[in-house]
Amino acid sequence: MRVAMIGSGYVGLVSGACFADFGHTVVCIDKDPSKIERLNRGEIPIFEPGLDDLVQTNVRDGRLSFTQDGAEAIRTADAVFIAVGTPSRRGDGHADLSYVHAAAEEIAGLIQDFTVVVTKSTVPVGTGDEVEAIIRRVNPGADFAVVSNPEFLREGAAIGDFKRPDRVVVGVNETGDDTAERARIVMSELYRPLNLNESPLLFTSRRTSELIKYAANAFLAMKITFINEMADLCEAVGADVQQVARGIGLDKRIGAKFLHAGPGYGGSCFPKDTIALVRTAQQYGAPTRLIETTVEVNDARKQAMAGRVEKTLGTSVKGKTVALLGLTFKPNTDDMRDAPSLDIAPALIAAGARVQAFDPEGMHEAARLLEGVEMKDSAYDAVEGADAVVIVTEWDRFRALDLDRVKLLMNQPVLVDLRNIYRPEDMQRRGFKYSGIGRG
Ligand code: NAD
Repeated sequence: MRVAMIGSGYVGLVSGACFADFGHTVVCIDKDPSKIERLNRGEIPIFEPGLDDLVQTNVRDGRLSFTQDGAEAIRTADAVFIAVGTPSRRGDGHADLSYVHAAAEEIAGLIQDFTVVVTKSTVPVGTGDEVEAIIRRVNPGADFAVVSNPEFLREGAAIGDFKRPDRVVVGVNETGDDTAERARIVMSELYRPLNLNESPLLFTSRRTSELIKYAANAFLAMKITFINEMADLCEAVGADVQQVARGIGLDKRIGAKFLHAGPGYGGSCFPKDTIALVRTAQQYGAPTRLIETTVEVNDARKQAMAGRVEKTLGTSVKGKTVALLGLTFKPNTDDMRDAPSLDIAPALIAAGARVQAFDPEGMHEAARLLEGVEMKDSAYDAVEGADAVVIVTEWDRFRALDLDRVKLLMNQPVLVDLRNIYRPEDMQRRGFKYSGIGRG
């Protein structure tokens, strides 16, 4: 199959590289010239484990290429994927669909033979109808189908998720002729290599598929927020949230995943997708009050985290040096979008602290977003002279710190562990004033 992938970011690049690895011929398109130049030089513009090798192999074997001008690739493609960003629209929290609409306009004039136009971007219910209307307006004679195929990969584990997904959702609308069936055949052929791994292809209507993506993210965001509230309750009553999480997670109806208490969810998806779903639901007169509350509780939590530093210190942070370990929204990515550090660092600075930080992959982007934070070259450089260290992101290398060295380097041994990667009793034995999340 011939695939054109519009948008070569976290989703487009991973999806494109994986489809190429399945044996399809893929052209990844991006309007950002620096991204395409870097890709054509053999550099990967994002940090994603394993992507480097996957891209290199498939480029070498002639199945994967990159371009800024996708006209030829779109003209000859069996499937054109839209994998552009759908950020929150400024002011109202609805998904900003301007990039999706622009991509649809570009595709429309180029369609020749039967083409399946696939929205892989996370888009609100009804966006497929809009994409279809745009294409029909620009190119009334075009032979095409618009299909929804939301992506569920997680940054940091993206390749494994794409190649061994729990499910692949494909939303196709019946049109009264054979268009839907032809679209299903193309989509089945694209994902055929997955059958070896028994990942089910779930065919639904387009609106249902669009909603499945938001419902999945909202449910996971709610699960995280639930355990975060339980953590606060654990602190109040003297219980341990990790044992609570284990105790409930062993129940198969609940499941152990997404039950790690922390500083509140962040990242490029949950914050914008929960609020976009809330807005869609309000627009259709069917408000989702659980999700509205989840959004509120999570926002408040992220803002409250700086206060935990003062609570552990037992005094104001004014004039104190605070070291942040980890800045990205989770480990194994360089993605800083809506990371909790973007709330924590400014709150500490506003309270009068001097903030220094280290992150293994996110510092380039973090330096742009976090004014007034001094970026350091290593975790040990960051903790030097600090009155408190805050573990913000649970990178593996922070789990194995030489704590004696950390203690010697610090001004005073105070550690605020927002990811519960250390044990309170160990830390106390080592002479740290320590606080975790939800541990009595
Ligand atoms: P991203 O910002 O990393 O990538 C989007 C890319 O699209 C950018 O490189 C941009 O330059 C390019 N682009 C925009 N308009 C274009 C156009 N008209 N032609 C060519 N290129 C264009 O975004 P992302 O994280 O890959 O997310 C893409 C979509 O996938 C979003 O809807 C997101 O919600 C969804 N999603 C993301 C993840 C994730 O973990 N990042 C997971 C699942 C779903």
